[in-house]
Amino acid sequence: MIFETIATSGHEEVVFCHNKEAGLKAIIAIHNTVLGPALGGLRMWPYQSEAEAINDVLRLSRGMTYKNAVAGLNLGGGKAVIIGDPAKDKSEALFRAFGRFVNSLNGRYITAEDVGIDVNDMEWVFRETEFVTGVHQVHGGSGDPSPFTAYGTMQGLMAALNARFGSENVGKYSYAVQGAGHVGMEFIKLLREHGAKVFVTDINPDLVRRAVDEHGCTAVGTDEIYDVDADVYSPCALGGTVNEATLPRLKCKIICGAANNQLATDAIGDEVEKRGILYAPDYAVNAGGVMNVSLEIDGYNRERAMRMMRTIYHNVGRIFQIAKRDRIPTYKAADRMAEERIIAIGKLKLPHMGHNGPRFLGRMRGH
Ligand code: NAD
Repeated sequence: MIFETIATSGHEEVVFCHNKEAGLKAIIAIHNTVLGPALGGLRMWPYQSEAEAINDVLRLSRGMTYKNAVAGLNLGGGKAVIIGDPAKDKSEALFRAFGRFVNSLNGRYITAEDVGIDVNDMEWVFRETEFVTGVHQVHGGSGDPSPFTAYGTMQGLMAALNARFGSENVGKYSYAVQGAGHVGMEFIKLLREHGAKVFVTDINPDLVRRAVDEHGCTAVGTDEIYDVDADVYSPCALGGTVNEATLPRLKCKIICGAANNQLATDAIGDEVEKRGILYAPDYAVNAGGVMNVSLEIDGYNRERAMRMMRTIYHNVGRIFQIAKRDRIPTYKAADRMAEERIIAIGKLKLPHMGHNGPRFLGRMRGH
């Protein structure tokens, strides 16, 4: 069963990591290393079953292959999960045991932070392996990626404005920003620096107040955000917010934000396209975080990071071109761009792979 699943999703390797004394139950999934070592975060979550954990790690690692490929990185896709409750089950031994497994892969998988993991946990992992990013700045790490993600989102936005309106003048348009957290607040700040009209919502009233008081935004209710008459809807909170219930309410011309998995389903992505709304694919737009940590591999440098963020403009623009060329919705064009790059570079490295076509990337959607 597991081999069948892995064959279908196109994974190269799935490692089950167990250490009884440390209480470690982890899975590392390496999806594709054609472009380079598999980079992707470590998630800690109290999964209800092993099957749920396996599904999650397979889905997320495959998503990283696409994200890293579209971002233009020389990195493949991977991900790891620890089955456990981040509020109760963390220990030095747990993370060091995990670090030893990462190390045993000799650099084929490089880990980073994800849901449930913070920079202190990474310090323990770092004691056992050098194949880790997202460590503290004192160890040459890149620190909080959120401002970079926000800046990258801005680049994706400009590409979308250009494609939809023929103008990149951010300040000319209005925005409905959902979520004023780490990325959202930085993004709002940048929008306001351009003089844009910004509507904001968050379930945390303190953050909404800050966005209003410090940045001059207009507050709206958490459900009202879908009815706002703004040019751009910018999801910067949770995934799945573009769905059957919300899409008919959206008045925007563009969807562009930092949240992961914005489209609830592929069918919704098709419907977005039919309604003439330009969707800037989430994983291309929000690649700033992964770009930033990727630079730790060769020695982090802020200037290089900012330069790299600006490539998001071109990546998103290229996705729109592919969508036009192949007459497909933009969410599909993003996947196609990733597959084309992996195949082209794969041919250089392994000429015999050419005849396989995109199928070798598997058939499991979701990032
Ligand atoms: P965060 O937790 O700091 O911010 C999310 C904000 O959304 C919080 O303030 C939360 O109160 C708010 N929120 C939650 N549910 C909401 C709702 N129903 N309505 C309105 N607001 C709601 O997280 P973040 O780091 O800012 O990340 C935001 C999104 O961007 C996430 O989807 C994340 O996966 C994605 N992302 C973040 C980065 C990064 O660098 N931090 C990189 C890539 C993608």
